[in-house]
Amino acid sequence: MTTTLITGGTVVTATGRSRADVLIDGETIAAVLAPGSLLLGADLASGVDRVIDATGKYVIPGGIDAHTHMQLPFGGTAASDTFETGTRAAAWGGTTTIIDFAVQSYGQRVFDGLAAWHEKAAGNCAIDYGFHQIIGDLNADSLQAMDGLLAEGVSSFKLFMAYPGVFYSDDAQILKAMQKSAETGLMTMMHAENGPAIDVLVGQLLAEGKTDPYYHGVARAWQLEEEATHRAIMLANLTGAPLYVVHVSAKQAVAQLAAARDNGQNVFGETCPQYLYLSLEENLGAPGFEGAKWVCSTPLRSRAEGHQEHLWQSLRTNDLQLVSTDHCPFCMKGQKDLGLGDFSKIPNGIGSVEHRLDLLYQGVVTGRISLERWVEITSTTPARMFGLYGKKGVIQPGADADIVVYDPNGHTSIGYGTDEFGEPTGRSHHMNMDHSAWEGYEIDGHVDIVLSRGKVVIAENSYLGAKGDGRFVKRGLSQYLI
Ligand SMILES: [Zn+2]
Ligand SMILES: [Zn+2]
Repeated sequence: MTTTLITGGTVVTATGRSRADVLIDGETIAAVLAPGSLLLGADLASGVDRVIDATGKYVIPGGIDAHTHMQLPFGGTAASDTFETGTRAAAWGGTTTIIDFAVQSYGQRVFDGLAAWHEKAAGNCAIDYGFHQIIGDLNADSLQAMDGLLAEGVSSFKLFMAYPGVFYSDDAQILKAMQKSAETGLMTMMHAENGPAIDVLVGQLLAEGKTDPYYHGVARAWQLEEEATHRAIMLANLTGAPLYVVHVSAKQAVAQLAAARDNGQNVFGETCPQYLYLSLEENLGAPGFEGAKWVCSTPLRSRAEGHQEHLWQSLRTNDLQLVSTDHCPFCMKGQKDLGLGDFSKIPNGIGSVEHRLDLLYQGVVTGRISLERWVEITSTTPARMFGLYGKKGVIQPGADADIVVYDPNGHTSIGYGTDEFGEPTGRSHHMNMDHSAWEGYEIDGHVDIVLSRGKVVIAENSYLGAKGDGRFVKRGLSQYLI
């Protein structure tokens, strides 16, 4: 077993920061020591196999991205990152665990869908991974299968109030699934948008010749996110199901979540970097077809309406609990361009798995969140929310040695890796897509070193891991319930 000492850094957790050394034994954190502690010998550094100097840097628990879609089939194509490329990009950005969505398609049995996802991921991942289960065909057989999910280490399932004819569940199906959620303790995750109403608006806009990507945002109006969020909350209230609303983008939907939480209900919300930074006007409304890069659902919202700043505030006040990426990348060429002349045919999704920690750290730099809150919303709360805490999401003895050494004096330029002549630009981009949704973003910090269960996978701007390093992690029930 390799022993490692990370010395000289400032260990940051969700509850505070302190100068401390971290001793790692194999894959596990063995001790967190006061700097210069003599308890384990006068010269601990010379007694270990490897010393990592973290002087002047933050030592944080590895990021946990609780919402990704590697190689997801969607709209006649599939998300362009495989488990191999996507988890490697995640590692580059300091994320050491993803929770991806296994899909039960319409007509398929739940456990066949789960098995297919294991097949895709096994032996291919750079970092550890878990699964949520999408229930895309909620029938009696699916409900029965849900009883067996927890034993498989899958403690959450996702339903869709959008995408009629694909993943959509109606209110009757949702009610039944939530009864099952209340009974089993499984977390209900909800894509909360009123899909049937959206589809009417999409048809009307296209009939009027409004085919540009911008109208994707018009059709998916905030009223339809607020309404669906409210409906999901009330069905959860009735049944007692714990509810987690994914990719919240409208400030009005946040208000619904906040009201339910004030009422003592187990209701939670995630948002994503794109909803904090990007907008309907500047991005979806970019000239020509460029806005297709930012077509995702829920959509980017109007900056004039103040959604972005409200979401930042909600992260400060814990009206929103964490930030995931909803990583679902598609290339412009051959994928997004399926929707040239018809925005409804643009595959929905943005690639961000590599940049979440950096983009959120910039929120620390700009004073929008604290350093501790950064760690909480990117690692500790995702771990607690989805039953990984103790093993993941914290730097403490016994936890997996998933650790990032982050340099607050470093710099990261985000963007696609090559210029128009194919020459490298020195920018950070390792996701398998032909553009970056984050081109030109500059971050006043840098992911220096990443350890995944004690193995150094990123150091000195090199990837040192291998596919298959990552293992499936079984999750328990949520540790975040009130
Ligand atoms: Zn969704
Ligand atoms: Zn998603």
